[in-house]
Amino acid sequence: MSHYRMSHTRSASWSPQRELLESSLGEPLRNVLREYVPSALIQNGENTSNSQNTATVNMGDEEDDRDHNNNNNSPGYLDFTACLSLVKKILPFVVLMLLRWVWEHRTGIVVLIALFLAFLHFNKTIRRHVSLRDRRHVSTVVANMLFLALNVHIVYYVFYSEKLHRCLYFMPPELDNTVWDVLWAVGITDFMVRFGVMFVKCLCVIQWRCIVPYKSRGKWYMLLENLSHFYRVLLPFPRWISFFMEDNQGLVMGLILCGIYVSIKLFQVFSKMSELWAVVRFFFRDQYYGTLVKKSDLSDTQCPICQEELDEPIMLHCKHVFCDECITSWFDRHPTCPMCRARITTTPPVWRDGSTSALVQFF
Ligand SMILES: [Zn+2]
Ligand SMILES: [Zn+2]
Repeated sequence: MSHYRMSHTRSASWSPQRELLESSLGEPLRNVLREYVPSALIQNGENTSNSQNTATVNMGDEEDDRDHNNNNNSPGYLDFTACLSLVKKILPFVVLMLLRWVWEHRTGIVVLIALFLAFLHFNKTIRRHVSLRDRRHVSTVVANMLFLALNVHIVYYVFYSEKLHRCLYFMPPELDNTVWDVLWAVGITDFMVRFGVMFVKCLCVIQWRCIVPYKSRGKWYMLLENLSHFYRVLLPFPRWISFFMEDNQGLVMGLILCGIYVSIKLFQVFSKMSELWAVVRFFFRDQYYGTLVKKSDLSDTQCPICQEELDEPIMLHCKHVFCDECITSWFDRHPTCPMCRARITTTPPVWRDGSTSALVQFF
């Protein structure tokens, strides 16, 4: 009863939960809580007070009520409810700001989405024609090359006033140094480089076998892709350094931000360099996935992949035999035997199937 009386000497919005929550927060957060926190929470507190009142009348239900309230009114639960309520209040404003930002940069966003869709299409087509080998459609691949070149020219022509092509050789474009302008310049340059690499891959796809044998094509695609990764990691560097060194934020802040960015970048560059070095060593290594065998020693001389007479037959450790060129091309896409699915190689077949990374190098 003394507790009941005490509750009436306090303000109308007081509740044990609110006091518990306020005491667990610092003064600034407490002020935020008083301003924003939820009528729902206050009501929750009132309900608890009511339950205490009821408890004086109905002592039989006291234990159940206490258990229930302990679960719902623990400090963690109250913090979560307060945060949720704050998020609900702030979220519409954030969405509104986001909508305004999207509308302001609608042209750029539409162009980037269109380039990404074009990239997905080109990537899929190139991979398919790489796997077709002799049965590739040269006309389709050539059409792909024309579209790739057209895309690059259209983008640089439409945005010619921004001089975006200068980013390709680490020179500044004719743009401001806002976050959006830097992201735009870096994003477009990244797409253009990838389109260029895809163009070169298409050139490799339509080559005659005598110029680039099918056996070594996987290595070429992988080398091209890793070279482009290294170049693409370096490309955003001058744009972001220039952004962080903007005059309006002061020299010290600029140097601190640049220092952090350079540290992250050095790690990325070092990682790409070691990847590239591994790829270069792989490129110059002769690749045999099994042992060479004589056709006279074999009962069946048909290759299960090309369905023709075995050419330079290779026996894998699972005892299946294929043409050297057929099985090397197969391992550019899969790590297992095409007949029994035994794992033959531990080297993951990355980028050897002619695919290009879909990740945009924004930083
Ligand atoms: Zn074959
Ligand atoms: Zn096998």
